[in-house]
Amino acid sequence: MNTSTGRHFLQIPGPTNCPLPVLAAIAQPTIDHRSAEFGALGLNVLKRIRPIFATQGPVIIYPTSGTGAWEAALVNTLSPGDHVLMFETGWFSTLWSKMATALDLKPEIIAGDWRSGVNAERLAEKLRADKTHKYKAVAVVHNETSTGVTSDIAAVRRAIDEAGHPALLLVDTISSLGSINYRHDAWGVDVTVGGSQKGLMLPPGLGFNAVSVKAIEASKAARRPRSFLRWEGMLTANAQGFFPYTPSTNLLQGLKVALDLIEAEGLANVFARHDRAALATRRAVEAWGLEIQCRGEAEYSSSLTAVRLPDGHSADALRLQILDDANMSLGNGLGPLADRVFRIGHLGDFNNASVLGTLAAVEMGLKARGISFGRGAIEAAVDGLSKDRPIRRQAAE
Ligand SMILES: *Cc1c(COP(=O)(O)O)cnc(C)c1O
Repeated sequence: MNTSTGRHFLQIPGPTNCPLPVLAAIAQPTIDHRSAEFGALGLNVLKRIRPIFATQGPVIIYPTSGTGAWEAALVNTLSPGDHVLMFETGWFSTLWSKMATALDLKPEIIAGDWRSGVNAERLAEKLRADKTHKYKAVAVVHNETSTGVTSDIAAVRRAIDEAGHPALLLVDTISSLGSINYRHDAWGVDVTVGGSQKGLMLPPGLGFNAVSVKAIEASKAARRPRSFLRWEGMLTANAQGFFPYTPSTNLLQGLKVALDLIEAEGLANVFARHDRAALATRRAVEAWGLEIQCRGEAEYSSSLTAVRLPDGHSADALRLQILDDANMSLGNGLGPLADRVFRIGHLGDFNNASVLGTLAAVEMGLKARGISFGRGAIEAAVDGLSKDRPIRRQAAE
């Protein structure tokens, strides 16, 4: 089959497809980052990014991948030797805890099964037992991209409050920002970490920190040396729309247009579109008779679905088959899930046709690889995409 015709289907859970108006904005001539024109752009995006995090406070934008924004959250708020309570939801939470160790912090990890989210009850026990307040921060991943599990951050907040614990709350929203309802202010989050290349429909290259007043206070007391990622100089320059060093000017031009698109669709509608695509995908997976990696319905991710293959079948061979036959990329299994699961991304810029095309191409791959599957998956997905069907509504407020 000739796979060079048609467009490539990028159905991994980030980086995601960029809408043409965003790409066109990025392709505009680079402008002077000290000019009045840039200052206006800076003020524009720094203001309009706030509602995406549901915050009234500042959002810092770095020219980094999401990993850089992870590091910024840790180095600005914590001091060497500080204990951080983390929860093992999967690959990304594990990487973040390894980074904490590399930065001379002391992460304490509550073990997880890579099929469920943060257990707020276990977190509460740990915090109640911590009479000396040794934990300076709780750091969790909102949407675990390796497993397709979304954790209840409001429940994490309640666990901290009920224990009367002063720890900061740091949350990674890299694969949920702009796709799954998230509320930085209402959930009392101190640092929210984001990235450009998933729900925001931009190429990789921007990292975000939404910061609370408490986090800024903590940053003044934190004793860890930092320079490039230091919030202080950023916040001062950002007040006029500028940056202390050359920002990713063209990505910021793209961000402005991505925000236009999200505002035009309406954030609640963006969330509903993701919910519907996720529901349709799960309906198809159920019809195939395959197992979803996420165990509990309440924790199903709206931005991706990780699908387990029956024993004896290689998920990587299936992905390669689909790449060959349909020119479509799916996410691979990470860490212990390598070759065991494949991940279907349904986030960012997509529509019903892209969801159905993705599922049909997966079905072609299952057939070609001789993996037995049930019939009726596409019909079930069409049903799931119907606007009259009830979906797991994400709280609008
Ligand atoms: C993609 C992702 C990251 C890593 O971001 P990079 O941009 O690759 O550095 C971290 N956490 C989560 C939850 C992610 O989905």
